[in-house]
Amino acid sequence: MVKVFLAMVAMFVWLSCFQPVQASVNDFLELEQQVLKSPELHIELTNRWINTSNSADTEFFLSALSARAFFFAGHIERSKKEFSRFSSTLKTQQFSWGAGYWYLYRSFFAIEQGHLDDAKRLVKQSKRAFTHVKDSAMLVRVQAMEAVISIWREEYSEALKSVQAAHAYIMRNDIGDVSKLAVLDSLTAYYSTLKYHRKAIEFANQANVLAVQTQNILDGLPIKYNLCMALLRSKLVEKARSCYSDMLVSAKRLALPRYHFWANAGLGKVSLLLKEYDEAVDYFLQAKELEYKAIVNPAHLIVLHNNLAKALSSMSRYAQAQIHLKESLSILDNYQSPLNNRYMRRTLKLKAHVLDLQQDYIGSIAVLNRYIRLLEENELATKEVLEQEAQSFFEAEQHKFKLALTNEKLKAQAANLAELEKEEQLSRAYIFIAVLSCISIGLFAYLQRKASLVNRNFAYRDPLTELFNRRYFQEHIDKLSHQKQSFSLAMLDLDYFKRINDVSGHDIGDEILVRFGQHLRSHFRDDADVVCRYGGEEFVVVCQFMDVSQLTQRLEMLQAVLRENLSHDSEAVTFSAGVVNSSDYSKDTLIKAVDELMYRSKKLGRDKISS
Ligand code: GH3
Ligand code: MG
Ligand code: MG
Repeated sequence: MVKVFLAMVAMFVWLSCFQPVQASVNDFLELEQQVLKSPELHIELTNRWINTSNSADTEFFLSALSARAFFFAGHIERSKKEFSRFSSTLKTQQFSWGAGYWYLYRSFFAIEQGHLDDAKRLVKQSKRAFTHVKDSAMLVRVQAMEAVISIWREEYSEALKSVQAAHAYIMRNDIGDVSKLAVLDSLTAYYSTLKYHRKAIEFANQANVLAVQTQNILDGLPIKYNLCMALLRSKLVEKARSCYSDMLVSAKRLALPRYHFWANAGLGKVSLLLKEYDEAVDYFLQAKELEYKAIVNPAHLIVLHNNLAKALSSMSRYAQAQIHLKESLSILDNYQSPLNNRYMRRTLKLKAHVLDLQQDYIGSIAVLNRYIRLLEENELATKEVLEQEAQSFFEAEQHKFKLALTNEKLKAQAANLAELEKEEQLSRAYIFIAVLSCISIGLFAYLQRKASLVNRNFAYRDPLTELFNRRYFQEHIDKLSHQKQSFSLAMLDLDYFKRINDVSGHDIGDEILVRFGQHLRSHFRDDADVVCRYGGEEFVVVCQFMDVSQLTQRLEMLQAVLRENLSHDSEAVTFSAGVVNSSDYSKDTLIKAVDELMYRSKKLGRDKISS
């Protein structure tokens, strides 16, 4: 009996050592958690996996996870190398979970390098992969990353959409702590950048508590960094100082030059605020010594040099201050980023100030002129947009509060009515109540609309092609019919699509659907025509201002473009279509009619349009 048991154990061990095992998403997340807790052990942890699994999916995941750990430890080059290990295979496997993970964290790396266009492109790929594998929790991480990218790009309305959606999701759903942390972190970054410090600190604290509870060191330190910065920005100087001191201790203990850099730079800023200039310069210089070991994002270096210039000029060491400003400007010359304008303005303003202190008024005015030119170029782009966005988000909350108050007032007013004797007073009270009621109704409608707008975008879009979905189509034609507006309708079905899936796999099939969707949309007007994915490989187009022959012509143009631009296995991807006008049919027979015409095109040999 014992022998049989031992043999079984041996068999099991043998199987698990030599058979490639297909890892599940849960296995991935479990390993991620281990690495987040002990980033210093990542090589050991991931190596164990390399021996047991050899699927491409696992390889992408492992390479991205290792790259994150290297990056965290400040080994930027090794991180880069780790990321690039599988980038060639990735192209053929872009829709797997592992690829989604790789794209997500590669986009983070791109942010740190200051490559914001790349970051945006990469995060989009990640979104497509996770949409494909239908992993909502990972899609929430994607949204958080999108928010961070938008913040860096100063696209605040985009950032707002992403943080709102992600926040709404984590409030309503139970998702993993790592994804939740990513969302809290993006909320901190958003509010911190918009200078809503109270809110930023609130989210940073929540994130910090969660990171500590889950012993997540790898995400925890950047979160701590954001918390310290939020405290500093809201001038809670002593709290900021102890926050940065904590960070310095962790950075030294774990030998992490990036955080060592930030802790010193942060402590320098605290000293600067307290006008302890000697200490500030000391801290900044200590940070500067670490720059080559740790920092990749040029923005951090510019800030460091500018802070040194501030401290030095406050001590009347103008010449030294100017040396650092020159350093900043030379980094800026090589820094192609949407942020260039902002950092350039800050640096020039500081330079003008230092020249002013040096009594070089002509020089100061010349620099200020340059500064003003940049300011004009940037116009509304920064401050005003920033304020508007923040305003709109907070309005909703404030209105909720006001609404509650208004209801209270209404009740109080009604109770007082009995005591109102004079008719005049009574009528005044009625007017007052009427006004308050109108406000309540208006606010309620406003809140409803705002909530539904956030959800609507999700409910009406097809996640793969990002076109409108069938539900939207149905509601749209119902609305048009109700308003007695006529329209032309086309239904398109890709020809022999099953063969594409069979020959090249579902991922390539998906990619063709996405690209077809893009071509289709580009042939119609965004404001007047509605392009939807009806289901599978079927699409519909609703055009209010085209008749059947115009819509047919437009589809023929699409056919010509596809012949040149969309092929599979050296053959053009084609579609069969039917086109009708709504006025020729009743609401109930319309879809059937267009569907029958589409099938007629199929019977006629495909790649045809029937009307
Ligand atoms: P026909 O010219 O007669 O339309 O041939 P067909 O192969 O296109 O027709 P059929 O309706 O038999 O096959 C449609 C295929 O589309 C079957 C299904 O697997 C595939 N499909 C549906 N939705 C998706 C999707 O989201 N992604 C991928 N890759 N394939 C899909
Ligand atoms: Mg079909
Ligand atoms: Mg088909």
